Amino acid sequence: MKRNPHLDIYLEKIKINTENIKNLCQKHGIEVVGITKGCCAIPEVGQAIIEGGIKILGDSRIENLKRLKKNGLKAETMLIRIPMLSEVDRVIDWADISLNSEISVINLLSQAALKKKTVHRIILMIDLGDLREGIMPDNTLEMMGEIRKLSGVKLIGLGANFCCVSGVMPTRENLNKLVRLTEEIERNFQINLEVISGGDTSVLKLVEDNIIPERINQLRVGVGILLGQDDVRLRNIAGTFQDTFILTGEVIEIKDKPSLPQGEIGLDAFGEIPVLQDLGIRKRAILALGKQDVHLGSLIPLKERIKIIGASSDHLIIDVTDFEENIKVGDEVRFRLNYPALLSTTTSKYIKKYFYRKGKNNGYKYERKEFNIY
Ligand SMILES: *Cc1c(COP(=O)(O)O)cnc(C)c1O
Repeated sequence: MKRNPHLDIYLEKIKINTENIKNLCQKHGIEVVGITKGCCAIPEVGQAIIEGGIKILGDSRIENLKRLKKNGLKAETMLIRIPMLSEVDRVIDWADISLNSEISVINLLSQAALKKKTVHRIILMIDLGDLREGIMPDNTLEMMGEIRKLSGVKLIGLGANFCCVSGVMPTRENLNKLVRLTEEIERNFQINLEVISGGDTSVLKLVEDNIIPERINQLRVGVGILLGQDDVRLRNIAGTFQDTFILTGEVIEIKDKPSLPQGEIGLDAFGEIPVLQDLGIRKRAILALGKQDVHLGSLIPLKERIKIIGASSDHLIIDVTDFEENIKVGDEVRFRLNYPALLSTTTSKYIKKYFYRKGKNNGYKYERKEFNIY
């Protein structure tokens, strides 16, 4: 018996997602970095991505990169969150490449690398308008001059990021800006930059539409591989699976109750005032699963006619009045996940993880394995 709540992880589907995205990009001379931060870099998932043809795995947290390396995964690692000053030593230990935008950090990275008798590769992030990380384009040449003085780091290219905080979409135009900046640096310093890292899953659309600037030769793809989704356009990526991670919760109560609460209404446990509609008496089920485990807004019941009503820390309430099957205590209810739910369920240590690999006749056989990030 599998324990509840649990997450079933379909490794073969993740591998196929990877292969399809890799093949698409390869036709355009683009290397894919597989981003694992959406699933806490579960080693089995990292391995599936490698089997899908990926040579570099990226994550925003050193702990995750360390886990990948410690599990013997044969890939280079890229730290995709610009490093904290306080972690530069660990960056050198566990990341082969890092994305950067602060000269004080790059300086310390260089010193740490020299101390460990190595050269650390960096990609300089340029802010193309999304206003998260990156130097402003006008400061590129000056920054480049500074970086060139440091012998413990090697600048391998420029990078950009989109759709993360301000929702700025990637376009051919703003990616061309990145290419022009690269060329300007190459002219000014008489060097050749090998990488232009053009962004995340949201850039795949430009590849599909064949409007990606030629020199963009790297993309860092997370959600596209893990969930087959392009979240900013609310579309699925062609040839990918979305049911890669399935969450199961168990019913601990089922009762007919009025849809409107009785009594005076105050704030709920999370400081919000619930907005409820009077639908008469409804059949409600409680699942042993809550906000501590999962981001509610991005759970999708696999069966139609099951509706999520709300949750507290440890209880998830669903309306099953319109569901044709007879639900009882002990039954399991399954959900597909969007990105925020993937992030929270993989992080929750209360949710057991089970892996499925490809079995005979295209079926899946499962292997019990509990993954614990703590
Ligand atoms: C999260 C992240 C990615 C991957 O984003 P997806 O939308 O999941 O593909 C790429 N680059 C950076 C810098 C990121 O932080």
